Amino acid sequence: MSNKHYKRIVLKLSGEAMAGDDKIGINPITVKKIAEEIKEAYETGVQISVIVGGGNIWRGKAASELGMERASADYMGMLATVMNALALQNALESCGVQTRAMTSISMQAVAEPYIRRRAVRHLEKGRIVIFGGGTGNPYFSTDTTAALRAAEVNADAILMAKNGVDGIYDSDPNLNPNAKKFDKLTFLDVVQKDLKVMDSTAATLCMENDIELILFNMNQEGNIKRAIEGQKIGTTVKG
Ligand code: UDP
Repeated sequence: MSNKHYKRIVLKLSGEAMAGDDKIGINPITVKKIAEEIKEAYETGVQISVIVGGGNIWRGKAASELGMERASADYMGMLATVMNALALQNALESCGVQTRAMTSISMQAVAEPYIRRRAVRHLEKGRIVIFGGGTGNPYFSTDTTAALRAAEVNADAILMAKNGVDGIYDSDPNLNPNAKKFDKLTFLDVVQKDLKVMDSTAATLCMENDIELILFNMNQEGNIKRAIEGQKIGTTVKG
């Protein structure tokens, strides 16, 4: 119960994180590793909720570009996030952590329906809450879900764990060896410089609700805990 910098955080994992080297689908060994990292961070005493993306299974926009109706494709994407949420819930519980999965699209045999006050109560009781189903609306992303839920449950920060990227750069570091990494930014910078950190809806929501974002590399072991302890890793976006 030491070194905790925040009281309550939202951890955003991309769907890709669940796939491991396979790049698509869910790799149970990878999910177990993520669960162990989350457990280690949880043991600092911080209240954690998790939003998982669905890009390892399905992306609505990509399917719509191939001719599918966007709304239907997006609902499929939201269902994909529920599969990831269940996989993570299972892995966390097998590490001995109490969790609740909540979905914004009602499917009561599978998870609790998302009710804000109930989610807050779970957090207060020390359960890790996993939010599946995105916002429940097509045309949105799980980044926007993270911003929305962070505002709703009054989280101190969003910890955005990325695969293989250790912060926000002025250009793609994989393509440009001279790309410059930022330590600190504002959400206005993110939108105006079109920095591809998150979509502009999510960035605006964070800006308007004074939510802090820390973007860091998930592939380095122990980073979730480091971010929670307020250690200088990745890029911080604030204001
Ligand atoms: N999605 C949606 N509304 C939401 C959240 C997600 O329609 O509120 C759909 C959308 O089709 C998206 C897919 O779910 O492509 C998976 O989410 P996302 O792309 O954000 O996952 P990530 O890139 O983080 O893996």
